[in-house]
Amino acid sequence: MKRIAITGGIGSGKSTIVKIFNELGIPSIDADEVAKQVRNLPSVHAEILKRFGTTDRLELRKIIISDPKAKDDIEAILLPQIKEFSEKKMKKIESKSSAPFLLYEAILIIQTGRIKEFDALIVVDATDEERTKRIQERDQVSEETAKGMMNAQMNRQEWIKNADFIIHNSGNLDQLRHEVRKILDQLMKQ
Ligand code: ATP
Repeated sequence: MKRIAITGGIGSGKSTIVKIFNELGIPSIDADEVAKQVRNLPSVHAEILKRFGTTDRLELRKIIISDPKAKDDIEAILLPQIKEFSEKKMKKIESKSSAPFLLYEAILIIQTGRIKEFDALIVVDATDEERTKRIQERDQVSEETAKGMMNAQMNRQEWIKNADFIIHNSGNLDQLRHEVRKILDQLMKQ
């Protein structure tokens, strides 16, 4: 079973796309879910509390936005455990499922160098305007905050240059389903 990573900027539509793949019989792992489990490990919880004085997600997000060193520190705590947990989850899927590939959805995959652990990388791309609108609606935040969240990440070209496959998601959901089917066909032929 091939391992395919799927990534892209905030609000590009990764989770929406993974859900469509799931409906088509493709299993997946969400690195965000894995990160939540890791954060709840007593040892990790204690380490975060010691370094940051809080384990509250929103508080931590604020600290990270204003302090790049804090971002490195939290990643150093979480990423090795996320890697270990997700490896176990992928092995479990591989032992049970007869699907041709699994999807690993993660925002940090290019930046952490984990890209080489996968057979291919799908990057989800959408215009900054669409993403801003979607983040505003989904997270109930201002345009300025949505743009700030987006600008804290790599820009569109940086995501795209690492892609084996690109899913364009600047249109409506019907167009997106069509795009996903196209990529699924290509992946099946690989
Ligand atoms: P994050 O990185 O924050 O987890 P994401 O890349 O997983 O974001 P989604 O949560 O899938 O993005 O999408 C962001 C929002 O935009 C969601 O509310 C989703 O329902 C909506 N959305 C995504 N794609 C489309 C589309 N093609 N048409 C309409 N709404 C969409």
